[in-house]
Amino acid sequence: MPAEPQLTPQQQLAHRGFPMLLTPTMADCMRQPQEQDPIYRQFWPSAEELQNPPHYTTDPLQEAASSPMPGLVHKYQGRALLHLTDACPVHCRYCFRRHGAITSPMDPQAEQQLVDHLAQDHTLQEIILSGGDPLMLNAPKWHWWMTQLAQLPHLQRIRIHSRVPVADPSRLTIPMLETLQNTAKSVVLVIHCNHAQELTPASEVALQACRQAGFLVLNQSVLLAGVNDSAEILAKLNLALVGLGVLPYYLHLLDTVQGAAHFEVSPQRAMEIMRQLHQCLPGYALPKLVRERPELPGKEPIHWF
Ligand SMILES: *Cc1c(COP(=O)(O)O)cnc(C)c1O
Ligand code: SF4
Repeated sequence: MPAEPQLTPQQQLAHRGFPMLLTPTMADCMRQPQEQDPIYRQFWPSAEELQNPPHYTTDPLQEAASSPMPGLVHKYQGRALLHLTDACPVHCRYCFRRHGAITSPMDPQAEQQLVDHLAQDHTLQEIILSGGDPLMLNAPKWHWWMTQLAQLPHLQRIRIHSRVPVADPSRLTIPMLETLQNTAKSVVLVIHCNHAQELTPASEVALQACRQAGFLVLNQSVLLAGVNDSAEILAKLNLALVGLGVLPYYLHLLDTVQGAAHFEVSPQRAMEIMRQLHQCLPGYALPKLVRERPELPGKEPIHWF
């Protein structure tokens, strides 16, 4: 990142609402002209964030309503989300958490309470570490959490939702992977990549290490106007991922969070893109088009065929 990014006064305002954050890895992926660059658009504060259409809110998913205690969101059957940190490697301008709707723990006492709760809920088969970004935890914290999760007999799977393998691959260290492997649970890693331009030699190495560790590696993307809203761009992304052994999982419609309206792609356009992708991709390279609805017991599939 340039030491002193040149921001216009309006970009400054957007930046104050949600501080700009990107890694050298992502900054190196940017190309000229910046305004048309899919990486720049994802991470650089924009005057467009100051628009305020009525149906865009600060907590579009109403996660707080499904959070019985700090750090836990339990909405879907058999699987619960843990938010162990607010930290992320980058700040994605379209993120539904940009207003900090959900807060993480945690002092050691709150962490222990959370672990006790997980131990008592035998319906939980899967813990999803989300965030913030769970791979931003420091090594001792990571080790502590993995040790706790390993001890839950009813837990089958640990799932990690992370942008680190793409945005800051050097953070994914071999000891962290080994700790995860040693839990003796199935591990699913869901990375978040929106454009083939985000994939670098360093991220390829990190993903290869995850596959060699025996993890199932999936990708989720958000459909974003001006970033990846074409079949051509998404075909290229998903084939590049498949080439790295990463299967496309979800293609999300944008969450209607305040400040992100300029990224909106209509459901009609999304369905059109899916129909085009269907014509040119093998079935395993086709993500599921979904939308998050706070009142539903799972993601809402959008039928496009
Ligand atoms: C997305 C999400 C999950 C995971 O859903 P899958 O369809 O299994 O990927 C779990 N809990 C919450 C609250 C979620 O938003
Ligand atoms: S939670 Fe994920 S999408 Fe949101 S800012 Fe962090 S890395 Fe980006």
